[in-house]
Amino acid sequence: MAIIVQKFGGTSVGSIERIQNVANRVIETISNGNQVVVVVSAMGKSTDELVNLANQLSKNPSKREMDMLLTTGEQVTISLLSIALQSKGFDAVSLTGWQAGIETEPIHGNARIKAIETENISRLLNEGKIVIVAGFQGITEDREITTLGRGGSDTTAVALAAALKAEKCDIFTDVTGVYTTDPRYVKEARKLHSVSYDEMLELANLGAGVLHPRAVEFAKNYSVALEVRSSMEFEAGTRIEEEVSVENNLVVRGIAFEKEVTRVTVVGLPNGLNTLSTIFTTLAKNGINVDIIIQSMTNQDVTNISFSIKSSDLEETLMALDLNQSVLNFQSIEHESGLAKVSIVGSGMISNPGVAAEMFDVLASNDIQVKMVSTSEIKVSTVVEEAKMVKAVDALHTAFELGSEVEQTV
Ligand code: ADP
Ligand code: ASP
Ligand code: MG
Repeated sequence: MAIIVQKFGGTSVGSIERIQNVANRVIETISNGNQVVVVVSAMGKSTDELVNLANQLSKNPSKREMDMLLTTGEQVTISLLSIALQSKGFDAVSLTGWQAGIETEPIHGNARIKAIETENISRLLNEGKIVIVAGFQGITEDREITTLGRGGSDTTAVALAAALKAEKCDIFTDVTGVYTTDPRYVKEARKLHSVSYDEMLELANLGAGVLHPRAVEFAKNYSVALEVRSSMEFEAGTRIEEEVSVENNLVVRGIAFEKEVTRVTVVGLPNGLNTLSTIFTTLAKNGINVDIIIQSMTNQDVTNISFSIKSSDLEETLMALDLNQSVLNFQSIEHESGLAKVSIVGSGMISNPGVAAEMFDVLASNDIQVKMVSTSEIKVSTVVEEAKMVKAVDALHTAFELGSEVEQTV
């Protein structure tokens, strides 16, 4: 019997009616002769509500207690779904992350999965049960409960699919697949029939919230057959797979974007061999994730370094730099918030020079100033004013013809 992993996100389990709907979809898969492992998220926006409760008590609650709190959200859903299935006459059992054997590294709030001990799940499946696993959570060697980062239930599902050698992993969500860009922002966005692991990884890392980036990493590393599809509609979704032919010679497959970006510029640093390493070691030691980096020299002895961070990290960044002023010896620090990152992604870019130039041209002709740039083989990212983010995405979507209805040859 084939094992199929099905994951249902927050909106898809957001009410009793929706949990009934999920139960019916699971029953349909069982009725087709499969063994099913279901992974669910917390109901609706309940994770946000839990975060809000904690914030009413403390500005900076401990990460351990936040994990303890947030993992309860998924536990509500697993038990309710199990009750729904049992009441329809099906043998279902719910498991928390640790009962499912999900071991993570000892980091609260954003842990990586280290190993999955599948013995318990396999035994329950062999007893004919539908196994329902709480997404987004695991346990450390020291029996501490951890979470995998916001949106991490996708990763639970794909990691389980890899460990159980499942035939496929379906990610059921509130859109019908992966689109050329977020359909909530751009109405011309079009569903992709398929997208490669590498493209999806870039899109997810660059802000396309439809899949958790680590889920895509797992899928790529273990060749998991992954599909993103709707929990409400019965249409085919988007397959994420190894190689996808370039659709109608389009070089750009999708556009991702991210708000709340801040640019920090450290002005007047003495220009030495160790300048870059000292500054970024200081930031890394303070747990600050730096994204785009630009160095510019005013003269041979003095250099300026700009980098982008999440706006929520600004206070800590400024503090870390100030505390190390005696080592870094900079003249001043400037920063600009209210920025966003807009990125175009596509494997076709490798063999097509000039894509970045076209992107800059489109932005310029729409009066959108590019404040920072970074590129890789299959993406170009630009930092622009957040107020112009949607305009930029719209213009690029049109210019790269992403909305045109063309069939993919796959
Ligand atoms: P779930 O709760 O099911 O995990 P998410 O909210 O995490 O759902 O992900 C689905 C959402 O991702 C969609 O509602 C959509 O707004 C957003 N999204 C962002 N980029 C894309 C994209 N390229 N294609 C489809 N959806 C996207
Ligand atoms: N409930 C968690 C969140 O809201 C995990 C998830 O939905 O994947 O981030
Ligand atoms: Mg999600």
